[in-house]
Amino acid sequence: MFTDLIPWKTKEMEKIAKVFLCDKKLILLRAPAGMGKTSVAIAYLIYNAIMGRRGAIFLRTRREIEHALKIAKTIHTRLKADLLIIATPSKQRLCVMSPSETIPIKFMCPIIECPRMKRRKYSDIEKYLRKNVLTTTDEYLRVLSMGRRCPFWIIRSLLPKANIIVGVHEYFKDDYLFSLLGELDVLIIDEAHNLLMMHYEFDRDKIERGKILVEEFLERGGRNIARLIVGLWRQGNYDDAEAVSQYQQYTQTDGKEKRLGRKILKIPTPISTIRKRLEKSGKIVLMSSTLYPSRFFETIFSKNMEHEMKIIKGLMRNPNRTIRIMDTDISTSIRERNPETYRKYAETIRTIKTRTKHKMIVFAPSYDVAKGISKFLGAPVTDNPKGEEIIITVYRGRIAEGVEIPEDYRVAIMAGLPYPKLTQRESKILEAYSEEYGVSIEVLREAYMRSSMVSALIQAMGRVGRKNRGWIYIIDRRARALLAG
Ligand code: SF4
Repeated sequence: MFTDLIPWKTKEMEKIAKVFLCDKKLILLRAPAGMGKTSVAIAYLIYNAIMGRRGAIFLRTRREIEHALKIAKTIHTRLKADLLIIATPSKQRLCVMSPSETIPIKFMCPIIECPRMKRRKYSDIEKYLRKNVLTTTDEYLRVLSMGRRCPFWIIRSLLPKANIIVGVHEYFKDDYLFSLLGELDVLIIDEAHNLLMMHYEFDRDKIERGKILVEEFLERGGRNIARLIVGLWRQGNYDDAEAVSQYQQYTQTDGKEKRLGRKILKIPTPISTIRKRLEKSGKIVLMSSTLYPSRFFETIFSKNMEHEMKIIKGLMRNPNRTIRIMDTDISTSIRERNPETYRKYAETIRTIKTRTKHKMIVFAPSYDVAKGISKFLGAPVTDNPKGEEIIITVYRGRIAEGVEIPEDYRVAIMAGLPYPKLTQRESKILEAYSEEYGVSIEVLREAYMRSSMVSALIQAMGRVGRKNRGWIYIIDRRARALLAG
């Protein structure tokens, strides 16, 4: 089994590995956080690379990319195989000349006549990277820019040669960036729930202006729009250059169109992107601990396509964490947000505190709920703990997102479930999905809210039990039924 490549192999990983070996071209895998999905995915890519098959893994954040690179380095060092493993930082980071946010970097190069554009030799860099897997994106950028070269142009040459690519989701979602990767046999998307709500946003006024400028240019016999953009920028006509660039991107972007005030949204459905990527690859594995509700994701990612969906139940599997869903009649549902509910929450939290000597973080679904509980509990609402025994914060806030907190906060209280407020933008995207998938908007809305809730819950839960043992208590009447499936 290819998991033999992983030095820290567990029985749980074998279960995941079997899913990877399924002979379907499209695989959906929901497995609890902490089961070792990324380790198995990297081992699978390395195994395939040794067999001569190219693969890529797409992750959500830089931190996740670096975690994957560390795993790849450990396996690669033991194997001593001649493999080229390349990390792709976000496209803006690949330009070292402080690129403009409004013009794609490919236009910046001729605009500023960047001298780095001409330094395209990369054989020494390739040789070095075949021997060394670097573990941070900064290190990759440093190596790619050696000899005052351009990381963007060097990586463009290296990507089609790489045996394994470790990139951000952007490289899977975006047609142009994906085209830079070359033909791939295996694509793995980690935290695949993040493919939801993919969209591109354009400014209506700019598109209208850009359209006029392009039509005038073509009437004058012009052919190359890139030249028009570069020319306008060099004349100092930045707004028009941006308008033409936006118009060009708008015409080249696929997706269902929706209006939102002065904005135009182009919304590619996840299934249309997956279908396109499958045309160019042998296999796609979409994995996440947050494919909740699973039926919803099965529809969104694989409707009318042959696929395999595997669910390994549970939210989080980590020997360092104990999760308890409390048997309770209280809830922070909108209509129950009142002083009596907050008093009951405070009472329950106080009871839990009497049973533990550890400090506690309470996560609440909103600042109003946090303040309500704080009033009865006498604990501060803060993202900056100063040694208090109990602090209260919010889901999706700084602490939940990963800001460092002292290790002695080892108990996390989930005071209610973090259902989001749907924004207008999200509503428009769900409207487009409803039309494309033929599923009612109400069903989609409910499923999306639940998925977003589970995602925020897991993220907050991950704040304890990292180095030391942690305890998690979920206090909401709805939790048991909702999280069971
Ligand atoms: S050549 Fe590279 S560094 Fe120079 S502007 Fe273009 S992308 Fe940026």
